[in-house]
Amino acid sequence: MRQNTVINNPFFQQESQQENRVMKIRLMLKAFLDNITLIITFMFLVLQLKEYLVLRYKNILKYMWALPIVVSLLSIGVMWEPLIYGEVRLDLRGVPIFYISYLLGWKYGLISTFLPALYRYHLGGTSVLQGIFQAIILPFAIGAFFQNRKCYNPPYSILNIRHMLRAFNCYQVIRFFLILQTTNVSFITVICLILFEIAAVLCIFFMQNDVSRKLLLRKELEYHSRHDSMTNLYNLRFFRTNVEQLMGSNVPVVIAMMDVDYFKKYNDTHGHPAGDAVLRTIAQLLNDSMRKEDVFARYGGEEFIICFTKITNMQTAVNIAERFRKNVEDYRFFGEETQPDGKVTVSIGLGGLSDGKSLDELIKEADQMLYKAKKSGRNVVEWNSSS
Ligand code: GH3
Ligand code: MG
Ligand code: MG
Repeated sequence: MRQNTVINNPFFQQESQQENRVMKIRLMLKAFLDNITLIITFMFLVLQLKEYLVLRYKNILKYMWALPIVVSLLSIGVMWEPLIYGEVRLDLRGVPIFYISYLLGWKYGLISTFLPALYRYHLGGTSVLQGIFQAIILPFAIGAFFQNRKCYNPPYSILNIRHMLRAFNCYQVIRFFLILQTTNVSFITVICLILFEIAAVLCIFFMQNDVSRKLLLRKELEYHSRHDSMTNLYNLRFFRTNVEQLMGSNVPVVIAMMDVDYFKKYNDTHGHPAGDAVLRTIAQLLNDSMRKEDVFARYGGEEFIICFTKITNMQTAVNIAERFRKNVEDYRFFGEETQPDGKVTVSIGLGGLSDGKSLDELIKEADQMLYKAKKSGRNVVEWNSSS
């Protein structure tokens, strides 16, 4: 009897309606907050793992197909905590799918849709097809369609926020009308869902760009710590580390020193910038003439150092050095006719086979042979015939 009085009393009816509304808002916020927390935590861990793997393994791109699979698991995780609105399940499952399709294109995007679509199908309900289309197929299609090829540089892609938001908002506008047209979900709930999705995609965007920037910076620093900035050849420090490692594992090596002939004269006649261009061309000729197993670097000034590896007899090293000397002699350098021999040339000295000697001893031997090459008229290869 008393219960009936309460139910029929307009004041209590109003109060319980209000409580009901607050309860609904609470449930909605809880579901969306759970979703967004899961997405941010998961993506943070995935991106940290990516950073670690990129630094550790060189050919990580071979395993890129694993990323959409991992991300589709996130989508499934998100579907565990939906806001149940009548027959409709509302959650942020489309965000990871949109992100991967936008970042990597349609092939990877498509991979990321399989498991979530299967899982949504398994969950069933009258809105199953709508759920698959609106929150799985649609974000995939729009993400892949808008993919920004200019930013595609895995694993170092840096996304453009404006471009990405344009694509994401396009997805949201279509979804907004589809939800309102095909379900009885309230306007406020849809707006709330959209705001949470935008917040989630922005979080992923900032984390992704941050990791890519860090990786790129590291790559750049690593490059500069190993290379000579003018010729882009290895610098002496990195050369030494490499060669000492090879010698440590008993790989037979021969060291050669090379110096440009009458280079001071060239600089005095044509200026230092022209001289620098000659050094860059010689570096390029070195790249073209040496075998891929040889290591070479700028020793300093206009001197270069070469390490011939896996050499069992001196003649092989001498032949390669001679071929390179000839390549320089034949190359037509700017203004070379003013040089004493009418061309830019190099002299090369080769030390003996490594045979248990230290790198410094080998460099000293090669230096002595270079001195001999200069003495014997330049534009020649001299080697230690006693070894
Ligand atoms: P040699 O045939 O005996 O080698 O005669 P050289 O004139 O080449 O003498 P040396 O090997 O001592 O050459 C040193 C000159 O190399 C001095 C300098 O003008 C030039 N040089 C050294 N480093 C650079 C550089 O980075 N750029 C330019 N343009 N010139 C350089
Ligand atoms: Mg010199
Ligand atoms: Mg010189």
